[in-house]
Amino acid sequence: MKGAILHGPRDVRFEERADPTIIEPTDAIIRVAATCVCGSDLWSYRGIQSVTEPTPFGHEYCGIVEEIGRAVRTVKPGQFVIGSFFASDNTCPHCLAGYHSSCQHRELVGGAQATLLRVPLADGTLVPTPGVPPDDLIPSLLTLSDVMGTGWFAADAANVKPGATVVVVGDGAVGLLAVLSARQMEAERIIAMSRHPSRQTLARAFGATDIVTERGDDGVARIMELSHGVGADAALECVGTQESMEQAIRSTRPGGSIGYVGVPHGVTLDGHDLFFAHVRLHGGPAPVRRYLPELIALVWNRTIAPGKVFDLVLPLEEVAGGYRAMDERRAIKALLRPQDVKGGAHE
Ligand SMILES: [Zn+2]
Repeated sequence: MKGAILHGPRDVRFEERADPTIIEPTDAIIRVAATCVCGSDLWSYRGIQSVTEPTPFGHEYCGIVEEIGRAVRTVKPGQFVIGSFFASDNTCPHCLAGYHSSCQHRELVGGAQATLLRVPLADGTLVPTPGVPPDDLIPSLLTLSDVMGTGWFAADAANVKPGATVVVVGDGAVGLLAVLSARQMEAERIIAMSRHPSRQTLARAFGATDIVTERGDDGVARIMELSHGVGADAALECVGTQESMEQAIRSTRPGGSIGYVGVPHGVTLDGHDLFFAHVRLHGGPAPVRRYLPELIALVWNRTIAPGKVFDLVLPLEEVAGGYRAMDERRAIKALLRPQDVKGGAHE
């Protein structure tokens, strides 16, 4: 089979790789129906996190189960499934508490930008859809593998409630889907912080009621003005920089909550400032697996359409172009389709 391999900074190649095989009896092999490029892949693509050897890339996936190990019970060949970027057993104390991305047996799922993918702990990790989906649902189902689940966790971690005022910091795919999540959780006012017209348009389509283009002190002042001097009930931090974290904390009212899902790069918090901010902080790698059954149902009955976040669709073999477009911010998120799988059907 073929898949994406990162050789070094800005050097992604679509190359021949060995077909994945069942290694543990709890593994499954799936034939990928769609995959995509993640904002977090760009840290390595840009050389900020360097790869030491040619590395298969991609961690977002959905597709048809091709083969299962002898210990797999709940997942069957032919089913269409979605899983998280962290494999989890769904039985340990952390999974039972809803924190699958801290599973005691968690394993990163890598190399998903390929035609075939090995998924460990298949019973705990993969959730089947009610049937093989129609082609037009596949982009939305794919988002549940990471970005939609992550945006949903940001809103859930920030305790978004009906009637709430919510600030979303970050207008990447996760930020935009955090807007959609806050809307679905019936927030009344959703303020999206964005400077890019195309992203502002999508934020509004997903339910943002206000757009703030200012940042830093001006951004905080604008949030205070919009919330009558009170601050937001919830801030959803979807970037991971010092500036975005401070923006989120300073935009939140006393007693409010911050859900932070941007992977922090160089973020440090001042204990004194945090003490007097009087806010709750909760975040981390999203336990996407916890939300899959609920989010699959919302996509399946067409209540939400998070797949609109994909503004570039390429054949998988053009994966390098997907990275380039996202690196240059010409695309919000690039969807990749293997050519031998059309829609949910496969030979
Ligand atoms: Zn677990």
